Amino acid sequence: NVPGMPPRPVATRRTTRQIMVGNVPVGGDAPVSVQSMTTTLTSDVNATLQQIAQLTTAGCQIVRVAVPTQDDADALKEIARKSSIPVIADIHFQPKYVFAAIDAGCAAVRVNPGNIKQFDDKVKEIARAATDAGIPIRIGVNAGSLDKRLLTKYGKATPEALVESALWECSLFEEHGYRDIKISVKHSDPVVMVNAYRLLSQQCDYPLHLGVTEAGPAFQGTIKSAVAFGALLSEGIGDTIRVSLSTPPVEEVKVGLQILESLNLKKRGLEIVSCPGCGRAQVDVWKLADEVTAGLDGLDAPLRVAVMGCVVNGPGEAREADLGVASGNGKGQIFIKGVPVRTVPESRIVETLIEEALKLVEAMPEE
Ligand code: SF4
Repeated sequence: NVPGMPPRPVATRRTTRQIMVGNVPVGGDAPVSVQSMTTTLTSDVNATLQQIAQLTTAGCQIVRVAVPTQDDADALKEIARKSSIPVIADIHFQPKYVFAAIDAGCAAVRVNPGNIKQFDDKVKEIARAATDAGIPIRIGVNAGSLDKRLLTKYGKATPEALVESALWECSLFEEHGYRDIKISVKHSDPVVMVNAYRLLSQQCDYPLHLGVTEAGPAFQGTIKSAVAFGALLSEGIGDTIRVSLSTPPVEEVKVGLQILESLNLKKRGLEIVSCPGCGRAQVDVWKLADEVTAGLDGLDAPLRVAVMGCVVNGPGEAREADLGVASGNGKGQIFIKGVPVRTVPESRIVETLIEEALKLVEAMPEE
Protein backbone atom coordinates (compact mmCIF):
# COMPACT_ATOMS: atom_id res chain seq x y z
CA ASN A 1 0.00 0.00 0.00
CA VAL A 2 1.13 3.51 -0.75
CA PRO A 3 0.71 6.13 1.99
CA GLY A 4 -2.07 8.56 1.14
CA MET A 5 -3.60 6.23 -1.46
CA PRO A 6 -6.60 3.94 -0.89
CA PRO A 7 -5.35 0.51 0.24
CA ARG A 8 -4.79 -1.93 -2.61
CA PRO A 9 -7.05 -4.98 -2.38
CA VAL A 10 -5.46 -8.39 -2.39
CA ALA A 11 -6.49 -9.23 -5.96
CA THR A 12 -8.58 -8.14 -8.89
CA ARG A 13 -11.99 -9.70 -8.43
CA ARG A 14 -13.20 -12.30 -10.87
CA THR A 15 -15.97 -10.93 -13.07
CA THR A 16 -19.33 -12.30 -12.03
CA ARG A 17 -22.94 -11.50 -12.76
CA GLN A 18 -24.51 -9.26 -10.18
CA ILE A 19 -27.61 -10.20 -8.24
CA MET A 20 -29.47 -8.17 -5.64
CA VAL A 21 -30.23 -9.71 -2.26
CA GLY A 22 -32.70 -7.09 -1.10
CA ASN A 23 -30.70 -3.87 -1.25
CA VAL A 24 -27.32 -5.63 -1.10
CA PRO A 25 -25.62 -6.21 -4.46
CA VAL A 26 -23.69 -9.47 -4.65
CA GLY A 27 -21.22 -10.10 -7.47
CA GLY A 28 -20.07 -7.80 -10.24
CA ASP A 29 -18.22 -4.85 -8.80
CA ALA A 30 -20.04 -4.97 -5.46
CA PRO A 31 -17.85 -5.23 -2.35
CA VAL A 32 -17.68 -8.71 -0.83
CA SER A 33 -20.50 -8.87 1.70
CA VAL A 34 -20.65 -10.63 5.05
CA GLN A 35 -23.54 -12.78 6.06
CA SER A 36 -24.54 -14.99 8.94
CA MET A 37 -27.37 -17.21 10.09
CA THR A 38 -29.60 -16.98 13.12
CA THR A 39 -29.53 -19.74 15.72
CA THR A 40 -32.95 -19.02 17.23
CA LEU A 41 -36.11 -20.91 16.37
CA THR A 42 -37.35 -18.92 13.41
CA SER A 43 -40.90 -19.38 14.70
CA ASP A 44 -39.85 -17.32 17.74
CA VAL A 45 -40.18 -14.04 15.92
CA ASN A 46 -39.03 -11.78 18.76
CA ALA A 47 -35.92 -13.80 19.57
CA THR A 48 -35.04 -14.03 15.88
CA LEU A 49 -35.50 -10.31 15.30
CA GLN A 50 -33.45 -9.58 18.39
CA GLN A 51 -30.61 -11.73 17.12
CA ILE A 52 -30.86 -10.14 13.66
CA ALA A 53 -30.55 -6.73 15.33
CA GLN A 54 -27.38 -7.87 17.14
CA LEU A 55 -25.95 -9.20 13.88
CA THR A 56 -26.80 -5.97 12.08
CA THR A 57 -25.04 -3.93 14.77
CA ALA A 58 -21.98 -6.17 14.41
CA GLY A 59 -21.84 -5.38 10.67
CA CYS A 60 -23.73 -8.30 9.16
CA GLN A 61 -25.22 -7.34 5.79
CA ILE A 62 -27.41 -10.32 4.95
CA VAL A 63 -28.99 -12.82 7.34
CA ARG A 64 -30.30 -16.32 6.76
CA VAL A 65 -32.96 -18.03 8.81
CA ALA A 66 -33.76 -21.75 8.87
CA VAL A 67 -37.23 -22.83 7.80
CA PRO A 68 -37.70 -26.46 8.84
CA THR A 69 -41.40 -26.29 9.87
CA GLN A 70 -44.67 -24.64 8.92
CA ASP A 71 -44.46 -22.48 12.07
CA ASP A 72 -41.12 -21.14 10.84
CA ALA A 73 -42.57 -20.49 7.40
CA ASP A 74 -45.46 -18.62 9.05
CA ALA A 75 -43.00 -16.39 10.92
CA LEU A 76 -41.14 -15.27 7.79
CA LYS A 77 -43.50 -12.47 6.85
CA GLU A 78 -43.00 -10.53 10.06
CA ILE A 79 -39.28 -11.24 10.18
CA ALA A 80 -38.72 -10.13 6.57
CA ARG A 81 -40.77 -6.97 7.17
CA LYS A 82 -39.10 -5.96 10.42
CA SER A 83 -35.49 -6.92 9.74
CA SER A 84 -33.31 -4.02 8.69
CA ILE A 85 -31.07 -6.28 6.59
CA PRO A 86 -32.19 -8.66 3.83
CA VAL A 87 -33.47 -12.02 5.04
CA ILE A 88 -32.77 -15.25 3.17
CA ALA A 89 -34.96 -18.27 3.90
CA ASP A 90 -32.97 -21.48 4.17
CA ILE A 91 -35.00 -24.40 2.85
CA HIS A 92 -34.23 -28.09 2.97
CA PHE A 93 -36.61 -30.97 2.26
CA GLN A 94 -39.86 -29.11 1.60
CA PRO A 95 -40.42 -27.20 -1.65
CA LYS A 96 -43.65 -25.76 -0.25
CA TYR A 97 -41.61 -23.56 2.10
CA VAL A 98 -39.81 -22.07 -0.89
CA PHE A 99 -43.12 -20.69 -2.09
CA ALA A 100 -44.03 -19.58 1.43
CA ALA A 101 -40.74 -17.70 1.74
CA ILE A 102 -41.21 -15.97 -1.60
CA ASP A 103 -44.77 -14.99 -0.63
CA ALA A 104 -43.52 -13.76 2.75
CA GLY A 105 -41.26 -11.20 1.09
CA CYS A 106 -37.88 -12.79 1.82
CA ALA A 107 -35.03 -11.20 -0.11
CA ALA A 108 -33.80 -14.57 -1.39
CA VAL A 109 -34.18 -18.27 -0.88
CA ARG A 110 -31.46 -20.82 -0.33
CA VAL A 111 -32.24 -24.30 -1.56
CA ASN A 112 -30.19 -27.44 -1.09
CA PRO A 113 -31.04 -29.61 -4.06
CA GLY A 114 -29.51 -32.68 -2.45
CA ASN A 115 -32.12 -32.46 0.28
CA ILE A 116 -35.19 -31.69 -1.79
CA LYS A 117 -36.33 -34.95 -3.31
CA GLN A 118 -39.03 -33.65 -5.62
CA PHE A 119 -36.96 -30.58 -6.36
CA ASP A 120 -36.44 -31.18 -10.07
CA ASP A 121 -40.20 -31.34 -10.72
CA LYS A 122 -40.71 -28.06 -8.92
CA VAL A 123 -37.98 -26.02 -10.56
CA LYS A 124 -40.26 -24.51 -13.17
CA GLU A 125 -42.72 -23.27 -10.55
CA ILE A 126 -39.94 -22.04 -8.25
CA ALA A 127 -38.25 -20.20 -11.12
CA ARG A 128 -41.53 -18.53 -12.05
CA ALA A 129 -42.36 -17.53 -8.48
CA ALA A 130 -38.85 -16.12 -7.90
CA THR A 131 -38.94 -14.26 -11.22
CA ASP A 132 -42.32 -12.74 -10.39
CA ALA A 133 -41.03 -11.67 -6.97
CA GLY A 134 -37.74 -10.45 -8.49
CA ILE A 135 -35.60 -12.36 -6.02
CA PRO A 136 -32.50 -14.53 -6.40
CA ILE A 137 -31.96 -18.11 -5.32
CA ARG A 138 -28.85 -19.61 -3.83
CA ILE A 139 -28.08 -23.12 -4.97
CA GLY A 140 -26.41 -24.30 -1.78
CA VAL A 141 -24.62 -27.60 -2.29
CA ASN A 142 -23.23 -29.16 0.84
CA ALA A 143 -20.83 -32.10 1.14
CA GLY A 144 -22.94 -33.63 3.90
CA SER A 145 -26.05 -33.81 1.76
CA LEU A 146 -24.73 -34.36 -1.72
CA ASP A 147 -27.08 -35.78 -4.31
CA LYS A 148 -26.98 -39.63 -4.06
CA ARG A 149 -26.40 -39.95 -7.82
CA LEU A 150 -23.19 -37.93 -7.57
CA LEU A 151 -22.06 -39.68 -4.41
CA THR A 152 -22.31 -42.97 -6.30
CA LYS A 153 -20.53 -41.53 -9.33
CA TYR A 154 -17.60 -39.97 -7.43
CA GLY A 155 -17.50 -42.18 -4.32
CA LYS A 156 -17.45 -39.15 -2.01
CA ALA A 157 -17.96 -35.40 -1.98
CA THR A 158 -15.03 -34.42 -4.20
CA PRO A 159 -14.67 -30.90 -5.64
CA GLU A 160 -15.85 -32.31 -9.00
CA ALA A 161 -18.93 -33.86 -7.40
CA LEU A 162 -19.88 -30.64 -5.57
CA VAL A 163 -19.45 -28.56 -8.72
CA GLU A 164 -21.34 -31.00 -10.93
CA SER A 165 -24.23 -31.00 -8.47
CA ALA A 166 -24.35 -27.19 -8.38
CA LEU A 167 -24.12 -26.72 -12.13
CA TRP A 168 -26.69 -29.43 -12.78
CA GLU A 169 -29.19 -27.62 -10.56
CA CYS A 170 -28.35 -24.32 -12.21
CA SER A 171 -29.01 -25.87 -15.61
CA LEU A 172 -32.50 -26.85 -14.48
CA PHE A 173 -33.22 -23.23 -13.63
CA GLU A 174 -31.54 -21.99 -16.82
CA GLU A 175 -33.91 -24.17 -18.87
CA HIS A 176 -36.65 -21.90 -17.58
CA GLY A 177 -34.71 -18.75 -18.34
CA TYR A 178 -33.87 -18.13 -14.66
CA ARG A 179 -30.33 -16.95 -13.96
CA ASP A 180 -30.73 -14.88 -10.81
CA ILE A 181 -28.54 -17.36 -8.99
CA LYS A 182 -25.63 -17.50 -6.59
CA ILE A 183 -23.88 -20.70 -5.70
CA SER A 184 -22.12 -22.26 -2.76
CA VAL A 185 -20.24 -25.58 -2.71
CA LYS A 186 -19.37 -26.08 0.93
CA HIS A 187 -17.19 -28.69 2.52
CA SER A 188 -15.76 -28.91 6.03
CA ASP A 189 -12.27 -29.59 4.62
CA PRO A 190 -10.83 -26.25 3.50
CA VAL A 191 -8.65 -27.87 0.83
CA VAL A 192 -11.59 -29.63 -0.82
CA MET A 193 -13.64 -26.46 -0.47
CA VAL A 194 -10.97 -24.25 -2.05
CA ASN A 195 -10.57 -26.63 -4.97
CA ALA A 196 -14.32 -26.86 -5.45
CA TYR A 197 -14.70 -23.07 -5.67
CA ARG A 198 -11.69 -22.79 -7.99
CA LEU A 199 -13.26 -25.33 -10.32
CA LEU A 200 -16.65 -23.70 -10.09
CA SER A 201 -15.27 -20.26 -10.86
CA GLN A 202 -13.78 -21.59 -14.10
CA GLN A 203 -17.10 -22.98 -15.22
CA CYS A 204 -19.64 -20.25 -14.58
CA ASP A 205 -19.96 -16.55 -13.90
CA TYR A 206 -22.54 -16.79 -11.14
CA PRO A 207 -21.63 -14.94 -7.96
CA LEU A 208 -20.19 -17.27 -5.34
CA HIS A 209 -21.08 -17.52 -1.67
CA LEU A 210 -18.02 -18.81 0.18
CA GLY A 211 -18.30 -21.03 3.21
CA VAL A 212 -16.41 -23.77 5.00
CA THR A 213 -19.31 -25.74 6.38
CA GLU A 214 -19.27 -26.98 9.97
CA ALA A 215 -15.90 -25.29 10.35
CA GLY A 216 -15.89 -26.06 14.06
CA PRO A 217 -15.45 -24.26 17.37
CA ALA A 218 -14.18 -20.68 17.41
CA PHE A 219 -10.43 -21.28 17.20
CA GLN A 220 -10.40 -24.04 14.61
CA GLY A 221 -13.29 -22.61 12.59
CA THR A 222 -11.75 -19.17 12.45
CA ILE A 223 -8.45 -20.53 11.17
CA LYS A 224 -10.08 -22.84 8.64
CA SER A 225 -12.28 -20.05 7.31
CA ALA A 226 -9.49 -17.47 7.23
CA VAL A 227 -7.18 -19.83 5.37
CA ALA A 228 -9.78 -20.98 2.85
CA PHE A 229 -11.36 -17.57 2.24
CA GLY A 230 -7.90 -15.98 2.13
CA ALA A 231 -6.77 -18.42 -0.56
CA LEU A 232 -9.86 -17.88 -2.69
CA LEU A 233 -10.27 -14.14 -2.22
CA SER A 234 -6.61 -13.63 -3.04
CA GLU A 235 -7.38 -15.25 -6.39
CA GLY A 236 -10.34 -12.91 -6.84
CA ILE A 237 -12.87 -15.69 -6.14
CA GLY A 238 -15.84 -15.02 -3.85
CA ASP A 239 -18.61 -12.43 -3.72
CA THR A 240 -20.16 -12.96 -0.32
CA ILE A 241 -18.91 -14.91 2.70
CA ARG A 242 -20.34 -16.70 5.67
CA VAL A 243 -18.08 -17.96 8.43
CA SER A 244 -19.68 -20.97 10.18
CA LEU A 245 -18.64 -21.32 13.80
CA SER A 246 -20.01 -23.21 16.77
CA THR A 247 -20.40 -19.87 18.57
CA PRO A 248 -23.03 -17.14 18.82
CA PRO A 249 -23.39 -15.86 15.23
CA VAL A 250 -22.12 -12.36 16.07
CA GLU A 251 -18.67 -13.98 16.32
CA GLU A 252 -19.03 -15.23 12.75
CA VAL A 253 -19.65 -11.70 11.57
CA LYS A 254 -16.65 -10.32 13.45
CA VAL A 255 -14.40 -12.99 11.92
CA GLY A 256 -15.84 -12.41 8.44
CA LEU A 257 -15.30 -8.66 8.65
CA GLN A 258 -11.78 -9.14 9.96
CA ILE A 259 -10.93 -11.47 7.07
CA LEU A 260 -12.14 -8.89 4.55
CA GLU A 261 -10.30 -6.06 6.32
CA SER A 262 -7.09 -8.10 6.41
CA LEU A 263 -7.28 -8.51 2.63
CA ASN A 264 -8.14 -4.83 2.05
CA LEU A 265 -11.50 -5.92 0.67
CA LYS A 266 -13.15 -3.78 3.30
CA LYS A 267 -12.02 -0.50 4.68
CA ARG A 268 -10.04 -1.19 7.82
CA GLY A 269 -11.51 -0.11 11.10
CA LEU A 270 -9.67 -0.06 14.39
CA GLU A 271 -6.48 -2.08 14.14
CA ILE A 272 -4.26 -2.84 17.12
CA VAL A 273 -0.74 -3.70 16.05
CA SER A 274 0.98 -5.22 19.06
CA CYS A 275 4.22 -7.11 19.31
CA PRO A 276 4.23 -10.63 20.74
CA GLY A 277 6.72 -9.65 23.43
CA CYS A 278 10.05 -11.37 23.88
CA GLY A 279 13.01 -11.41 26.27
CA ARG A 280 13.63 -7.75 25.51
CA ALA A 281 10.15 -6.56 26.52
CA GLN A 282 10.31 -4.06 29.31
CA VAL A 283 6.56 -4.05 29.96
CA ASP A 284 3.84 -6.72 30.03
CA VAL A 285 2.90 -6.27 26.35
CA TRP A 286 0.03 -8.74 26.41
CA LYS A 287 -1.63 -6.94 29.31
CA LEU A 288 -1.00 -3.56 27.72
CA ALA A 289 -2.42 -4.69 24.36
CA ASP A 290 -5.48 -6.22 26.07
CA GLU A 291 -6.13 -3.06 28.06
CA VAL A 292 -5.78 -0.81 25.02
CA THR A 293 -8.03 -3.15 22.98
CA ALA A 294 -10.66 -3.14 25.74
CA GLY A 295 -10.42 0.62 26.17
CA LEU A 296 -10.96 1.23 22.45
CA ASP A 297 -13.61 -1.45 21.98
CA GLY A 298 -16.48 -0.18 19.86
CA LEU A 299 -14.49 2.67 18.34
CA ASP A 300 -15.67 2.62 14.75
CA ALA A 301 -12.87 4.41 12.94
CA PRO A 302 -9.95 3.57 10.66
CA LEU A 303 -7.27 3.91 13.28
CA ARG A 304 -4.04 1.92 13.58
CA VAL A 305 -2.68 1.79 17.10
CA ALA A 306 0.72 0.22 17.78
CA VAL A 307 1.57 -1.21 21.18
CA MET A 308 5.22 -2.22 21.28
CA GLY A 309 7.16 -3.78 24.11
CA CYS A 310 10.58 -2.22 23.71
CA VAL A 311 12.66 0.22 21.76
CA VAL A 312 14.08 -2.31 19.23
CA ASN A 313 11.18 -2.34 16.77
CA GLY A 314 8.92 -0.18 18.88
CA PRO A 315 9.63 3.26 17.47
CA GLY A 316 9.61 1.90 13.89
CA GLU A 317 6.18 0.27 14.20
CA ALA A 318 4.79 3.07 16.33
CA ARG A 319 5.85 5.53 13.64
CA GLU A 320 3.97 3.60 10.93
CA ALA A 321 0.76 3.76 12.94
CA ASP A 322 -1.64 6.65 13.56
CA LEU A 323 -0.84 6.34 17.20
CA GLY A 324 1.62 4.20 19.05
CA VAL A 325 3.71 3.54 22.09
CA ALA A 326 7.24 2.19 22.36
CA SER A 327 7.75 1.10 25.94
CA GLY A 328 10.88 0.76 27.97
CA ASN A 329 12.51 1.65 31.21
CA GLY A 330 9.21 2.14 33.07
CA LYS A 331 8.03 4.67 30.49
CA GLY A 332 6.20 4.83 27.19
CA GLN A 333 7.13 7.08 24.31
CA ILE A 334 3.94 8.10 22.56
CA PHE A 335 3.96 8.65 18.79
CA ILE A 336 1.24 10.37 16.77
CA LYS A 337 1.44 10.06 12.99
CA GLY A 338 5.05 9.06 13.29
CA VAL A 339 6.10 11.93 15.52
CA PRO A 340 7.15 11.31 19.14
CA VAL A 341 4.95 13.66 21.13
CA ARG A 342 5.67 12.81 24.72
CA THR A 343 6.85 10.26 27.21
CA VAL A 344 4.57 9.09 30.00
CA PRO A 345 5.11 6.78 32.97
CA GLU A 346 4.14 3.15 32.34
CA SER A 347 1.07 3.50 34.58
CA ARG A 348 -0.33 6.17 32.26
CA ILE A 349 0.30 4.50 28.87
CA VAL A 350 -3.20 3.02 28.47
CA GLU A 351 -5.15 6.13 29.44
CA THR A 352 -2.90 8.31 27.27
CA LEU A 353 -3.39 6.09 24.24
CA ILE A 354 -7.16 6.04 24.73
CA GLU A 355 -7.26 9.80 25.20
CA GLU A 356 -5.17 10.44 22.08
CA ALA A 357 -7.13 7.91 20.02
CA LEU A 358 -10.38 9.69 20.83
CA LYS A 359 -8.86 13.04 19.87
CA LEU A 360 -7.63 11.64 16.54
CA VAL A 361 -11.03 10.18 15.76
CA GLU A 362 -12.75 13.43 16.61
CA ALA A 363 -10.44 15.28 14.25
CA MET A 364 -11.17 12.88 11.36
CA PRO A 365 -13.11 14.44 8.51
CA GLU A 366 -16.76 13.30 8.28
CA GLU A 367 -17.31 10.77 5.48
FE1 SF4 B 1 10.51 -8.06 21.59
FE2 SF4 B 1 10.70 -5.42 21.44
FE3 SF4 B 1 10.01 -6.83 19.26
FE4 SF4 B 1 8.28 -6.55 21.24
S1 SF4 B 1 9.11 -4.88 19.97
S2 SF4 B 1 8.82 -8.46 20.20
S3 SF4 B 1 9.61 -6.59 23.00
S4 SF4 B 1 11.95 -6.90 20.31
